[in-house]
Amino acid sequence: MRVKTACLKHFLNGLVDEIAARGDWGEVADYIPELAKVDPAQFGVSVSLADGTQISAGASAERFSIQSISKVFTLACVLGRNGEQIWTRVGREPSGTRFDSILLLEQEKGRPRNPFINAGALVTTDALLAHRAPKDALSEVLAFLRAAAEDDDIHIDPAVAESEARTGFRNVALANYLKSYDNLHNPPELTLGTYFHQCAIEMTVEQLARAGRVIAQLPDAPQILSPEKARRLNALMMTCGHYDGSGDFAFRVGLPGKSGVGGGILVIAPGRASIAVWSPGLNLYGNSLMGTYAAERIARFTGWSVFG
Ligand code: GLN
Repeated sequence: MRVKTACLKHFLNGLVDEIAARGDWGEVADYIPELAKVDPAQFGVSVSLADGTQISAGASAERFSIQSISKVFTLACVLGRNGEQIWTRVGREPSGTRFDSILLLEQEKGRPRNPFINAGALVTTDALLAHRAPKDALSEVLAFLRAAAEDDDIHIDPAVAESEARTGFRNVALANYLKSYDNLHNPPELTLGTYFHQCAIEMTVEQLARAGRVIAQLPDAPQILSPEKARRLNALMMTCGHYDGSGDFAFRVGLPGKSGVGGGILVIAPGRASIAVWSPGLNLYGNSLMGTYAAERIARFTGWSVFG
């Protein structure tokens, strides 16, 4: 369905007002102290369309911590670097467990279910780190994001990375567990440090929507991701992008999406649009409460769905 730019702009402005009026923001992530400081009563949205236009509303120029949304871009880098090899170390199935769960890791002998839960993302980051320094691996992820967004003003917030390094005990446990099964090739502290910094990349929804154009394969997107890889990232986002809330997101929104505990969600309407929403308060699954609501409303308004 083609969506008129003026109508969409009007709709998004209305959505900003509607969300503010609801006043039901959810809880910010408090296990990372820097994220606990963020005011939950914020919402921003940006949509990059196939005709090259970009429409934004609300707090669209506010930088936020992309957290687990970075996992999509790290995976894109690893697929570009090592091709299919990564699948010997990590699966492609939804986990049905929380993003930081250790449960399945023991049952499945150290092979994480998918690259978007924390255990799987640690393996992907470990693969990106192979034979080089953390700063070089991080530079590759940043370079990919900057090229995708066509914007060099994308950086890591060191305060968020340090904050998580101080309190990320579950991730330390997951990394050690992976190491005990030989599914971490670097020292756990090196992989963890790289992972915490990758999660601490900060972006605006405008930058994130533009970066998502490569996954949506929009005509004006830089040619840095093959159509085949984009299709696969979309499949994983649809099945695993919201952890144990992935089925609910697919049901309500009908589009692939990836969330982060900073409150951002990247939603892809393949061939049509790349949508980024941000609201820092989370739902029970650790996904943005108002971000999910907004994605659902946008999908319904535009008629975009991968299910016809
Ligand atoms: N850095 C966060 C963590 O490891 C990312 C989790 C998320 O965004 N769901 O806990």
